[in-house]
Amino acid sequence: MKNIIKKIKEYNKIIITRHQRPDGDCVGASLGLREILKASFKDKEVKVLADDFAEGLNFIDYEDNNTCFTNIVYDENYYKDCLCIVVDTANTARISNKMYTFAKEIIKIDHHPNVEPYGVINWVEDERSSVCEMIAHFAKENREELVLTEKAAKLLFMGMVTDSGRFRFSSTSPETLKCAAYLLEKNLDLETLYANLYLKDYSSFKLQSEVYKKMKISKNGVAYIYIPKAMQDKYGLTPNEASLMVSSLDSIKGSLIWIAFIDNVDGSIRVRLRSRFLDINDIAVNYNGGGHGRASGATVYNLKEMRKLINDCDKKLKKFKEENTGWL
Ligand code: AMP
Repeated sequence: MKNIIKKIKEYNKIIITRHQRPDGDCVGASLGLREILKASFKDKEVKVLADDFAEGLNFIDYEDNNTCFTNIVYDENYYKDCLCIVVDTANTARISNKMYTFAKEIIKIDHHPNVEPYGVINWVEDERSSVCEMIAHFAKENREELVLTEKAAKLLFMGMVTDSGRFRFSSTSPETLKCAAYLLEKNLDLETLYANLYLKDYSSFKLQSEVYKKMKISKNGVAYIYIPKAMQDKYGLTPNEASLMVSSLDSIKGSLIWIAFIDNVDGSIRVRLRSRFLDINDIAVNYNGGGHGRASGATVYNLKEMRKLINDCDKKLKKFKEENTGWL
């Protein structure tokens, strides 16, 4: 953390970026860090430059309220004298702003397994519940230098809540709650924040009822749902909105792995894998994906591949159940 502050002080221009298809943690960490740096180093130019924004999070104060836009500067010279900080992104292929290669130096701040240490400084802690937790910790431990504004606290809290499943996931540690407490000192309006994050449209509940009708479970307990384009159209939902249905399968006793398959607009099929008591990211890696032990993403291209992935999960779950006790 001290080395990161030292590096930041060396630069006048700091560009923050993150992974493609950003989630709450990614948005909270990038914009939250921007707010902290802007408030702490008033003479520096600090920007988040990304290729896309997160649908569904536009209640958060962006510098622009569009849900899906690029604000990337495509001039190589613009990056020559800048420090680029990439948050929440394990590998360079997923970096949203491809101009990062022209930055003078790169810092990586992440909580995924460190498969590609692409920065001059790589601050990676894969046991952290979120990158927002790391940034909150950064602000907390360096409070004499880093100014935590109310806006930054709100952004970081939003990312901590979403990536830890409202502090339910096993990644939630005493340190997680200490960081959250530090953010809450800014008197955040939690009622409005949670309402924005978790209230759903009526149509989404209708889809949920269809998900419960159509969901299947494999022999050893892998629950899954396929949401083809026709089903998305029927309820007027985008693939992103439909993909939230993965959490509808998360509380089935004995089903330690659950998966949502969602048709993408380009014809590929997005896979969202979740689990408890065992990890599934090794399977995601075999299907053009990766991620955390218990929350991974992947892409398949046809129903045959989908069945193969389900089968791989089923085999893994069978072995786990045979070799372990205490799971539910
Ligand atoms: P998702 O189901 O899309 O929310 O993804 C769960 C986790 O897996 C997130 O931390 C993502 O960053 C990660 N992830 C999703 N898709 C990929 C991918 N294609 N490659 C590597 N990691 C991924």
